[in-house]
Amino acid sequence: MAVPAEPVALGGVSLAGATMGTTWSVRAYCAPTRNPHALHAIAQAALDDIVAQMSPWVEDSDLVRYNRAAPGSVHALPEAFADVLRCALDIATRSEGAFDPALGALVDLWGFGPSPSRHRIPGDAELQALRMRRGPSLRALFEEDPPRLRQPGGVTLDFCAIAKGHGADLVAHRLRAANVPAALVEVGGELFGYGRKPDGTPWRVVVEGCAEESNPRPGTEPPPLRTVELDGRAIATSGDRWHGFEHEGRRLSHSIDPRTGRPVHDAPVAVSVIEASAMQADAWATALTVMGAEVGLAFAERHDIAARFLVRDGERLVERVSARFDDLSEIAD
Ligand code: AMP
Ligand code: MG
Repeated sequence: MAVPAEPVALGGVSLAGATMGTTWSVRAYCAPTRNPHALHAIAQAALDDIVAQMSPWVEDSDLVRYNRAAPGSVHALPEAFADVLRCALDIATRSEGAFDPALGALVDLWGFGPSPSRHRIPGDAELQALRMRRGPSLRALFEEDPPRLRQPGGVTLDFCAIAKGHGADLVAHRLRAANVPAALVEVGGELFGYGRKPDGTPWRVVVEGCAEESNPRPGTEPPPLRTVELDGRAIATSGDRWHGFEHEGRRLSHSIDPRTGRPVHDAPVAVSVIEASAMQADAWATALTVMGAEVGLAFAERHDIAARFLVRDGERLVERVSARFDDLSEIAD
């Protein structure tokens, strides 16, 4: 006769660290005998792998070596790099070019990249020259089995809009593989959650806003507080709260519009997207930031994307959500 297994009491673990110029954290439930240091090492190693492959700031990362490689050279891609590139190519196509993983030179030109020059306004000729140098489409340079990417000369990849999301996915994947039954993983604000807490409920997170949202100006109503359940789901947020600079009274964001080569003007304050993976959520949040609230919301409705835009309306901050985002989130009392 089969004896039902004794339910194992799960213990809570909180882990934190630094990666990609930001911080990461994990909350997990697992057998209380698990060594938290070993779990920390698993998470940090996953993120270190991504940095070693995809950081534009690490001199010998695979991405930097590709960007600097001789024209005509062909590069074998490590697994995580190839996973991110596939997703980036897919979302570049589906977003009709609003997302572009080959904007490295432009990002750098505007002072948002690894070059020491900070936040300067490039001249038209300089901008034009870089845009002309973009070369063939990235998809045409990519080959599967085994994954390889050709450098035709001058292509500079930048995965900063998608790598943090992939980091959250990869940490979750490795913790699950290490028999951690439930975890909420956060990398630089991008979140992926799986499994259930010991009381049977899924992870519930508050949709990230900004300081103004929780401290509205006197006499104005803040947007509603929303929560999202993350059970095999992710939420990522893009916005110009932390990055960007002012020029002639306008705020320039670190999101670049690939059609103009220029930073997006007056970008939404924040754009949050719920997706099956944090990598997809991260890339879509960037793509919809580039589109802007008006076009982005219509696009999200047409493509059934769960998106929330936080925008300025005079003195007030207001939210605009797609039907799918409304379905997947709950307004807290
Ligand atoms: P995120 O915070 O996820 O929106 O990522 C912003 C970063 O992605 C920027 O600092 C750039 O490195 C890069 N980036 C800027 N514009 C784009 C774009 N249109 N498509 C893809 N990556 C971009
Ligand atoms: Mg992003």
